[in-house]
Amino acid sequence: MKVNFLESFNDIRDKNMLTLKEAKENGQKVVGFYCTYGPQELAIAAGAIPVGLCGTREEPIAAAEADLPRNLCPLIKSSYGFGKTDKCPYFHFSDIVIGETTCDGKKKMFELMRKFKKVHVMNLPQHQHQPASLEMMYEEMVRLKKVLEAELDTEITDEAIGAAINVVNRERKALKALFDLNQNKPALFSGSDLLKVSFQISFHSDREERISLLNTLINETKEKAKEGYCVGDSSTPRILLTGTPVGLGCEKVINLVEESGGLVVTMENCGSYKTLDLSVAEDSSQDKLMLLAQRYLKIPCSVMTPNTDRLTLLEKMIDDFKIDGVIDLTWQACHTYNIESYFVADLVKSKANLPFLHLETDYSNSDLETLRLRINAFLEMM
Ligand code: SF4
Ligand code: SF4
Repeated sequence: MKVNFLESFNDIRDKNMLTLKEAKENGQKVVGFYCTYGPQELAIAAGAIPVGLCGTREEPIAAAEADLPRNLCPLIKSSYGFGKTDKCPYFHFSDIVIGETTCDGKKKMFELMRKFKKVHVMNLPQHQHQPASLEMMYEEMVRLKKVLEAELDTEITDEAIGAAINVVNRERKALKALFDLNQNKPALFSGSDLLKVSFQISFHSDREERISLLNTLINETKEKAKEGYCVGDSSTPRILLTGTPVGLGCEKVINLVEESGGLVVTMENCGSYKTLDLSVAEDSSQDKLMLLAQRYLKIPCSVMTPNTDRLTLLEKMIDDFKIDGVIDLTWQACHTYNIESYFVADLVKSKANLPFLHLETDYSNSDLETLRLRINAFLEMM
């Protein structure tokens, strides 16, 4: 049985290029974001359209390598290459792009990007739980608000921030509800379907429409589940994918798992589950920028040290999604995720007593057969 409504998610990214073009022609501004730490609520509150710019395809990497070292994370090279070659309409239409001091490669890349784009870089703290970090995050929210107001020639009101917080919270809640359907055993979505939905929906310009599409998919899937719809069966190995972000164009590990008889039932990485449970508090009496700072500082990314909240989240996901094995994906030259894999392995093998596989790769297909062999052997352990 097929979930027909999934087809509505096939070409959201392409369709929205036209919407974006029309919006620009009508004078609306566009703000590009590279990272989950970027508070899209502020762009929405400024009346702009926030767009995600993370590069997930290999095509522009060769052009990027003319300026950047080859031995650099493919996500950074792809992001820079799309900008440099002007091949990404979302980058092209962005009036300003927001970067962050996350990993060394990304923050230095933004220095080069300034040659051809207006870039604002948020200065992130590296420790989540110190009071000084919250102060710093708050100051960065204040600074970003001022930059957006000046750059977009508008005033960002508290009321507008409150409304933006509300709609983004509801969208995260809907996406989490969708992911949580896969706690069902057998699962209701393949990993490639989950990726398609979460990736494509992030390009829809209309936030209310995003929520509506997600809720419709949730309801339709629940109805089909009542009729016996499922993906795989109760003996299909249930894999949790964690590590560096994955998008359409660099999903080879998910495809290989599913071609080899396993199922990626959930993904902890950015764009997937990592931040879905982190809502901004909707407290009308508090400073909205402080509420944003509190929420964004909680994101459990490996650029924070230590990053124990990621391990807490993983442990919960392993239980909730009835996981049989964990794959930790590291893009080549991503030192923070690569090193942190030690702790993830320890959690999975020693505490959860499950098989664990760490894969280090890039966006090319040159190692496809080696990866297939390793994934096959891993699935045979279950
Ligand atoms: S993995 Fe970390 S640095 Fe990369 S997008 Fe997510 S939060 Fe940002
Ligand atoms: S995957 Fe790692 S190296 Fe690449 S941008 Fe994210 S944190 Fe930086």
